[in-house]
Amino acid sequence: MKHTITEPAREVEVIHETDVLVVGSGPGGLPAALAAARAGVEVCLVERFGCFGGNLTVVGVEGMHWYRHEDTVESNGIAREFEERAKEMGAAVPESQSLSYEIDSEGFKLVADKMVQDEPNIRPMLHRQFVAPIMDGNAIVGIITESKAGREAILAKRVIDATGDADVIERAGAPTYKTPPEQMMAASVMFHVAGVDKQKFMDGIKSDPQTYADWGGGGEWNIETSGKEDEMFSPFLKKPFEQAIKDGLIPPHLNTIAGTWGAVHDTGELTYMNLIHMDDCDGTDPDSLTKFEIEGRRQAMLAIEALRRYTPGCEGIRLRNFGMSLGVRDTRKVDCAYNMTSLDVREQGRFEDSVGIFPEFIDGYGILILPTTGRYFQIPYRNLLPKKVENLLVAGRATGGDRDSHAATRNMACCAVTGQAAGIAAAISIKQQNQPLAQVDPLLIQKELERQGGRHH
Ligand SMILES: Cc1cc2nc3c(=O)[nH]c(=O)nc-3n(C[C@H](O)[C@H](O)[C@H](O)COP(=O)(O)OP(=O)(O)OC[C@H]3O[C@@H](n4cnc5c(N)ncnc54)[C@H](O)[C@@H]3O)c2cc1C
Repeated sequence: MKHTITEPAREVEVIHETDVLVVGSGPGGLPAALAAARAGVEVCLVERFGCFGGNLTVVGVEGMHWYRHEDTVESNGIAREFEERAKEMGAAVPESQSLSYEIDSEGFKLVADKMVQDEPNIRPMLHRQFVAPIMDGNAIVGIITESKAGREAILAKRVIDATGDADVIERAGAPTYKTPPEQMMAASVMFHVAGVDKQKFMDGIKSDPQTYADWGGGGEWNIETSGKEDEMFSPFLKKPFEQAIKDGLIPPHLNTIAGTWGAVHDTGELTYMNLIHMDDCDGTDPDSLTKFEIEGRRQAMLAIEALRRYTPGCEGIRLRNFGMSLGVRDTRKVDCAYNMTSLDVREQGRFEDSVGIFPEFIDGYGILILPTTGRYFQIPYRNLLPKKVENLLVAGRATGGDRDSHAATRNMACCAVTGQAAGIAAAISIKQQNQPLAQVDPLLIQKELERQGGRHH
C-alpha cells in the first residue's frame, strides 16, 4: 500500500480573473494566447519557466519549418509569423536541408517577449506552475498555481491546456491516454557547441553528404519513407559515433547516438545538436526525468568527444550549452471529440469543421515523409475538444490522435495551428454570449483565422 498523508484544506488568494487562460507557452500555447488576444478578449498566459517558447527555447529545438520545400503548402498564420519575426529580429539563419530558417533558441526568447508585449490584452505570468484545476461541477473555472509566492488562484471563462503533457486536462478528470514508456518516442538532451571551424566542417559535409536513407540501418534509426526522401540531403551525423564505438570511446550499446545538426554559424557555433536518443523515458514521472537528464548529459559529452576526434572542423569544439530541460516527444494524449488517425495525416484528411491545415509531414515512430508535394491535411475543431469537461480546450502535442498522427501533429508548426485555432475558438465562445465551446460555429473560427492570416483549406 502507498504511504500517504492528508494535506490540510487552505484558503487560496484569487490573484487574477481573465477571459481566456492559457497554460503553457510553447508552440501550442503561445499562438493560443496571441490568437485569443487578437480576437479581442483578455488573456492570461501562465508558464512554469522563465521564458516563453516551450521546446523551442527551453529544450533548444530550432527546426520549426525544416519540412519546407518548393511545393509545400502550409498553414501560414502564427506558425509562419514565428519565423518571420525571428528573421526580423536577427534570430534566424538559413536552415541546412530546406527552404526555411532555423530559429535561434536563445534569440527566440526575445522574439516571444516582444510578441507577447505587443498584445496589450495578454497578461504574462512566468514562473508559475499549474498544479490543480478549479472545478464547478463538470466545468473548469480556473487553476491553482504554485510558485515562489506559494499557491495562488486564477479564474477564467475558458482554459486552454498547452502544457504538452495535458496536465490540466488529466487533473480536471477528462479522459487521456498514454503510450507505454517503452514504446514512446525517445527523449533527448539537446545541446549546442562552440569552436567549430565552419569552412572545414562544411567541406567535410559536402565531401560525404548524408541522405534521409542514411537514417535507416538498424535499431533506433529504422525508418519508413515514401521513397522520394531517400536521395535527399540530410544533415545527419552517424559515422563519427560508429567510429567511436569501434575505437572503444563509446560503449556499443550506445549505438543510438546519431542524428542531425541544425545550423553552423559564422561565429563557430553548431546548434540544435539532436544526437542523443534515450528510450523508456516517461515525461510524466519526475524520477524518470531525473534519470534521463543525467544520462543524457553524460551521452552528450561522449558525442562531443567523438565529434572532436572524427569530424573535420570539430577538433576544437566545446560544449556551449545544454537545453534548459530534457526534451520529451510524447506523453499523454487527450481523448478528444475527434482523434486524428494515420489515414488523416497520410491521405489528406478533410473535415467540414477544419480549423487549420498542415502539410503532409510525418516525422516519428519510424516514419519520415516530407511535404515535397502540395499535399496537406486539415485539422477539425473537434480535435481540440476534450470529452467530459466544459470550458476546456487542448492545443499542441497533446491533441488527440494515434501514433502516426502524433508523428505529424507534434511538429511545432502544427502545434501552432492547433494553438491558434484554440485561442480563436475560446475567444469566439466568450464573445458569442458565452456559448459552450462544443457549440461554437466552426465557420466563425474559420473566418477569424482567415482574418489572422491562417489557412483552413
Ligand atoms: C528533442 C526534440 C526534438 C524535436 N525536434 C523537432 C523538430 O525538429 N521540429 C519540430 O517541429 N518539432 C520537433 N520536436 C517536437 C516539438 O518540439 C514538440 O512536439 C512541440 O514543442 C510541442 O509543443 P507544445 O506547445 O505542445 O509543448 P511544449 O513545447 O512542451 O510547451 C509546453 C509548455 O508548457 C509549459 N508547462 C508544462 N507543464 C506546465 C505546468 N504544469 N504549468 C505551467 N507550465 C507548464 C512548459 O514549460 C512549456 O513551456 C522535437 C521534440 C523534441 C523533444
